[in-house]
Amino acid sequence: MRMLSAFLRFARAKSMRRLLSRPSTARALIGHLGNATIAITVLAPPLAYALMSYAELSARAREHATVGARHIEMRLIKVGDPEAIGEIAPGILYATNGAHETVAASWVIGKDGHTIAFAGRTLRWPELTGRAPIRAIGFEGTFFAACSTGPIIIGTLHALLAFLALGFAAWYCFRRLPLTALDTALGLLQQAQAEAQDKNVRFDTALDHMSQGLCMFDRDQKILVCNKRYAEMYGLTREQTRPGTTLREIVQYRIAQGLYSGATPNEYMHERTARVTAASNSVQQLSDGRFVAIARRPMACGGWVTTHEDITEQRQAEAKIAYMAHHDALTGLPNRTLLHERLDQAIERVEQGEALAVHCLDLDRFKEVNDTLGHAVGDALLQAVTQRVAGCIRETDTLGRVSGDEFTIIQSPIASTEEAMAVAARIVEVVQEPFSLMGHQVMIGTSVGVALAPKDGVDGEMLLRNADLALYKAKQDRRGTYRLFEPDMNSHLQSRRDLEVALRSALQNGEFQVFYQPLLNLEHNEVCSFEALVRWNRPGIGMVSPGDFIPLAEETGLINQIGEWVMREACREAMSWPDHIMVSVNLSSVQFKNRSLVQMVMSALAASGLAPSRLELEITESVLVQDSDSALEMLKSLRLLGVKIALDDFGTGYSSLSYLQSFPFDKIKIDRSFIKDLTSGNENALAIVTAVVQLGSSLGIATTAEGVETTDQLEIVRSRGCTEIQGYLLSAPKPAQQIGQFCTSRAVSSDAA
Ligand code: C2E
Ligand code: CA
Ligand code: CA
Repeated sequence: MRMLSAFLRFARAKSMRRLLSRPSTARALIGHLGNATIAITVLAPPLAYALMSYAELSARAREHATVGARHIEMRLIKVGDPEAIGEIAPGILYATNGAHETVAASWVIGKDGHTIAFAGRTLRWPELTGRAPIRAIGFEGTFFAACSTGPIIIGTLHALLAFLALGFAAWYCFRRLPLTALDTALGLLQQAQAEAQDKNVRFDTALDHMSQGLCMFDRDQKILVCNKRYAEMYGLTREQTRPGTTLREIVQYRIAQGLYSGATPNEYMHERTARVTAASNSVQQLSDGRFVAIARRPMACGGWVTTHEDITEQRQAEAKIAYMAHHDALTGLPNRTLLHERLDQAIERVEQGEALAVHCLDLDRFKEVNDTLGHAVGDALLQAVTQRVAGCIRETDTLGRVSGDEFTIIQSPIASTEEAMAVAARIVEVVQEPFSLMGHQVMIGTSVGVALAPKDGVDGEMLLRNADLALYKAKQDRRGTYRLFEPDMNSHLQSRRDLEVALRSALQNGEFQVFYQPLLNLEHNEVCSFEALVRWNRPGIGMVSPGDFIPLAEETGLINQIGEWVMREACREAMSWPDHIMVSVNLSSVQFKNRSLVQMVMSALAASGLAPSRLELEITESVLVQDSDSALEMLKSLRLLGVKIALDDFGTGYSSLSYLQSFPFDKIKIDRSFIKDLTSGNENALAIVTAVVQLGSSLGIATTAEGVETTDQLEIVRSRGCTEIQGYLLSAPKPAQQIGQFCTSRAVSSDAA
């Protein structure tokens, strides 16, 4: 195990790692080394033994042959007869054979090659022969001594056997074990390599999928890591951002692309190549307009990492949001917020001696255009108005849209009041001109209220309020004009405010009362119905006529509660009248915006027990002008209940006969302004009354002449065929208590007539 870990340590070394980069070579090398070690271990000792034994044996054979030859020479010399060799040799041969157990045989061969004497045994093993020449007294021959190699072979075999065991050990230690260790190490290394590679792939993928550009530099300002996004952001190639590239080179590339911030390329280079020693965040605008947020963080190694995020879109969105927060989407004009800012700035200049004018504009009849021709035309109209009004002011002035059809102008500076009046007059004039929009000719107008600073105040809020008051007055007096603010306008507004506050509590305080005005049927000469007319008995002031508070009630929405109260009251009251007498209740167009109107009428009928056929609802054309579809639906539902519907004040509004066709009214009430004009010689009035009465009779609709004050008027309308009259001639509106008495007296008088 220790060996394995040592080996692994070694394997981790640099050179080894290089070697292991070609694992097959390393493996082969270890295999060969192992094989060599085994071969040496197994073969070398027996071979050495065999060689040494062989050398020794051959020396011995030679030695025995030499000793034998010397003996024969000595004996021959002693005998002195070369022929005696035959007797001498055998003895010496025996002696030689007996001298050492390894000598197995010996013999003497004569010069002619024939064997003179031989002694010994037949050899089972190959023999090793030593020879020596014999030269004495004329005899020449050769002495041979043969030694058996048996002991060497057996010894070598024993050694071989012994070293085979050692060889096995060597095989295990020097081949098997190292190779197994190497394989294990290689396996571990490959696994580690695969993991590292995996990690690298993941790291690279993560880097390249980052939305931010990332660049890591070493202490020498050379790139260590740089992702794709960074290169893309600065228009660099992969080659230009490869590891090893210096920061200076990168900055040069970027300057060449024209993508740098700062005054000059040099300045940029200087700034960008400064060493990063502390974390920093900055936003740079590149020369192509893009914004990049850069975060730099130093690293322990002396280098640093930077991230670059293109925040152009974010910046644009921020700018857009800021723009939207200060501008009106439809016209692109400054909105209320920006206008107030500009006004505050202009007022600062007023403090330094300048003068300014604030104009508040409200378009007249814009709502009608919007309601009748649709929002698209309405929008186009607002844009066209913007253009025309913008043409009346200077660069230094501000035109803003503060709500649907309300605009404000800050005219700053002005030299005189006349200058402000001239602009206001011009605006009134240009807006009055017809507009041609999406195939429609549209005529509107505008009213303008003007407040001046410092004359009318040096506070923005106050100036706007005063200009608004002047506008309110302009609208009240005569639409399509301008008015300059006057201090007493404030008191008008104050009284309007007081009225609103008082109106809100009037219902709870039971300050309302319903008066009833009779309508006379001219054919039967009898009262056929009473119109319910609300009165406000305002504490400390007395009876207030509906003309003074109904518009305010409509504006504030209080008309819904007041109208419901009148409806319940009138139905309840009518139950005390004779069955053939009806009650008429006025409904405001505002009440038709309330979806529960039909429900309210049903509830009033149910609560009072009044038959629906005894209730008549008076509406004006304005109900049908605004959102006519839903109003028509409501009218139809009401009519299905059995309630009658009368068209009130006919002739004052749009007087469009199309409204008479759009809904089957039960009655047309001709406005009292026409009746009044009948006796003043106005031919038109007579023509209109005649036409309406004829139209009514042809459609089977009853016609009522309102505001009949004189018998002359009565006679004219009667002669034209009017079916009913209403007016002071018959009776002014009276409190409920007087109705019973009126009916009785009327019955008496008509009986008398
Ligand atoms: P209107 O529906 O046209 O009501 C008739 C108005 O003419 C009443 O004024 C009435 O007093 C007045 N009048 C009647 N005969 C004559 C006459 O011979 N000569 C003159 N000069 N005037 C005459 P009033 O009561 O002041 O009501 C004004 C308007 O207020 C009404 O006009 C109606 O539109 C509205 N109004 C009144 N009560 C209610 C109500 O309960 N609900 C709603 N929504 N509107 C109401
Ligand atoms: Ca009426
Ligand atoms: Ca009327």
